[in-house]
Amino acid sequence: MKKIGIMGGTFDPIHYGHLVAAEMARAEFKLSKVLFIPTGTPPHKNRRDISAGEVRFEMVKRAIQDNPAFDISALEIEREGPSYTVETLRVLRRTWPEDELYFITGSDALLEIFSWREAEEIFKLIQFIGAARPGFDASDFFLKVQQEHPETQGKIHYLEVPALAISSTDIRARVRRGEPIRYLLPEPVRLYLEELGLYVE
Ligand code: ATP
Ligand code: MG
Repeated sequence: MKKIGIMGGTFDPIHYGHLVAAEMARAEFKLSKVLFIPTGTPPHKNRRDISAGEVRFEMVKRAIQDNPAFDISALEIEREGPSYTVETLRVLRRTWPEDELYFITGSDALLEIFSWREAEEIFKLIQFIGAARPGFDASDFFLKVQQEHPETQGKIHYLEVPALAISSTDIRARVRRGEPIRYLLPEPVRLYLEELGLYVE
């Protein structure tokens, strides 16, 4: 039985926050690999200007190329219409019926899960690894979540990651303002988005 990590995200662009969380989760939970799945049309994001799926896919590809434990899937970006996580998880379950699946998310995103379609079903298909920064009061947070949502009992694991205030929103804003983004994300990704003129107004 293998343990497989799933890292879903818009990745517009992918940055070191994502990569550090995935790598720490891999080591801590002894995952045989982490599969990055860029979202198709995310039902929860109301930004109108999300970069094309192929562009976000390419950025993830370049970001993970030097880590043999990281892989990428076009499952969601190739699907028509809005992407629902539960549908993706059903496909992954069919691909790996015997293995343990772990969905890696930031703790901010953990709270959003309960607004996802078929949230209860999701907890039957996969466990969660919630990545939070040191100082985040996890015990309180997880106690509350498990009390309010009994179906999550024992299915949410906490992972402390080194403080990373990096976000895609901040990176896009920096590009717009002409500020540096170097060292916030892998250099091949930075060069690619610069080449395309991404996020420049
Ligand atoms: P945006 O600012 O556009 O929302 P983002 O930086 O939050 O982008 P997403 O693609 O939305 O990136 O996030 C994908 C996943 O990665 C989510 O589960 C999110 O919580 C997690 N994540 C994002 N940034 C970090 C970070 N700095 N450290 C740990 N996890 C992160
Ligand atoms: Mg986000």
